[in-house]
Amino acid sequence: MQNMNVKGDRLWESLMEMAKIGATKKGGCCRLALTDLDKEGRDLFSSWCNDAGCTIKVDKMGNIFARRAGTRDDLPPVMTGSHLDTQPTGGKYDGVFGVLAGLEVLRTLNDFDVKTEHPVEVAVWTNEEGSRFAPAMVASGVFAGVFDLEYGLSRADLDGKTMGEELKRIGYAGTEEVGGREIKAFFEAHIEQGPILEHEEKTIGVVMGAQGQRWYEITITGQEAHAGPTPMARRKDALVAASKIITEVNRIGMDNQPFACATVGLIQSSPNSRNTIPGEVFFTVDFRHPKDEILSKMDAELRAFAEKTAKDGGYEMKFEEIWYSPPVEFDTDCVNAVRKGSEIAGYSHMDIISGAGHDACYISRVAPTGMIFVPCENGISHNEEEEATPEDLAAGCNVLLHAIVERANIV
Ligand SMILES: [Zn+2]
Repeated sequence: MQNMNVKGDRLWESLMEMAKIGATKKGGCCRLALTDLDKEGRDLFSSWCNDAGCTIKVDKMGNIFARRAGTRDDLPPVMTGSHLDTQPTGGKYDGVFGVLAGLEVLRTLNDFDVKTEHPVEVAVWTNEEGSRFAPAMVASGVFAGVFDLEYGLSRADLDGKTMGEELKRIGYAGTEEVGGREIKAFFEAHIEQGPILEHEEKTIGVVMGAQGQRWYEITITGQEAHAGPTPMARRKDALVAASKIITEVNRIGMDNQPFACATVGLIQSSPNSRNTIPGEVFFTVDFRHPKDEILSKMDAELRAFAEKTAKDGGYEMKFEEIWYSPPVEFDTDCVNAVRKGSEIAGYSHMDIISGAGHDACYISRVAPTGMIFVPCENGISHNEEEEATPEDLAAGCNVLLHAIVERANIV
């Protein structure tokens, strides 16, 4: 078991073969969910799994499950997987790595003739990116009971085509019920999509969980007036009030390091004329932190500061929290299995928090879950230039192998 290793070359070749489907001129991929290219990618994956001796089932959301039987096939499966769909100008690894690393684990178990007590399944989650059909991670969300099936199937693209129609058209409207079955453990291997592992010179990120998020929309109303005749003391400049709050947003982020993120990414000033004092300003705030207590504290500080700023300056303010997504904490046993797997295989590793959403975040609501990150060049993702080395990808795949085997019990 200690000596069992995946074949990094075979994993790399499969990644490059998959990357031909929807290949872009700049070396990336465009394989939007439920397009003909997505069908082609799914077909290729399924044919590889057939060759590896798996049985394949597709559920009503088009999620694919390739299953390698266990010696006790009635036991719940150990599952891994990710997504095959990409952004319009996506890369070759985001999602695809997690799916093909799962396949490589199955192939390796076959190579070494390993029998596991629990079955092992590789999942392909439909429409993770949310690029063609919003929201993101909708099909793993239905699997986890976050959304109902009807909601999932009725999501429409800009042309009004629904996921349900498009699943039928490409032949992936399966018959299996979505979710509602026990999973022993779920692991997702993924490129980091950030710069931390590369910067810290670590090969494996042991993912502890994902950041919680709070999103706000704030409108400050003051008084439009002429920029010349209106004395400074008599102004109600909405942009000045907004700028104070924006500075406070940044202060809150800085004071809650190392994990807090605080961003104002959108601002609309009205009337946006150089010689009129701004009468109304709309802006957004995006707060993220992996600990709910701290996210709540950030929320309270922002509210108190914004209210005081509005009151002191005599402004009207509309302050709305438009989205709250609680932090995700992965299962201790699964996290430990990933850490132990890194140690067995002899890779440098560090604990890390995911800054992005992943299918694993939803699956963690219905199954013990862990994630494995590997570095990507300059932390760049959702970009055709996305790069990762064959060595790092093989390392992540080996850790996945160890984690799966630990949970699935070798007989
Ligand atoms: Zn992804």
